[in-house]
Amino acid sequence: MTDRLTGDYHKALDKQWLGHWDCPPGGADDLVVTIDHFAKAEVTGKNGSKDKKNICYFKECKPLICNVTNLKMIAQVLGSNNFEDWEGRKIALYEADERKADDGKAIRVRPYKPKVTEVFCEECGQLIKEAKGFSVNKIVLRSQELFGKNLCMDCSLKMKEAK
Ligand SMILES: [Zn+2]
Repeated sequence: MTDRLTGDYHKALDKQWLGHWDCPPGGADDLVVTIDHFAKAEVTGKNGSKDKKNICYFKECKPLICNVTNLKMIAQVLGSNNFEDWEGRKIALYEADERKADDGKAIRVRPYKPKVTEVFCEECGQLIKEAKGFSVNKIVLRSQELFGKNLCMDCSLKMKEAK
């Protein structure tokens, strides 16, 4: 048996860094990610040269080598020039056309904040936030499954104990 490959070939190359091939093709949709932190890290170039680059580490996926274009856009979207103010914030990435790039495409930051669906807890009325490594989506799906309503992590745990 062989596993048939589909989609952008870059994905099959075990790339260390996030690339345009990790986004929905053709900029049709966004890849929404949460910034964990930025750090300098050594990156090996095409000719084997090693360079220190600005790397953006995310909570959900592989890190991104962040060029000046993307740094500027993050600063604009999040309203601050400081790395530490970006931690924990969400940005939307997409596949853009880039004539200067080898394959004519590049990963870019959208000039707007990602659309985040807000779900409120039906028990305590508070905005449901990610908790204990679970996304809002996962928390809501689970509480719907267990109790048939949207609950935050705290209320979900209380309900479980009360059962
Ligand atoms: Zn609650």
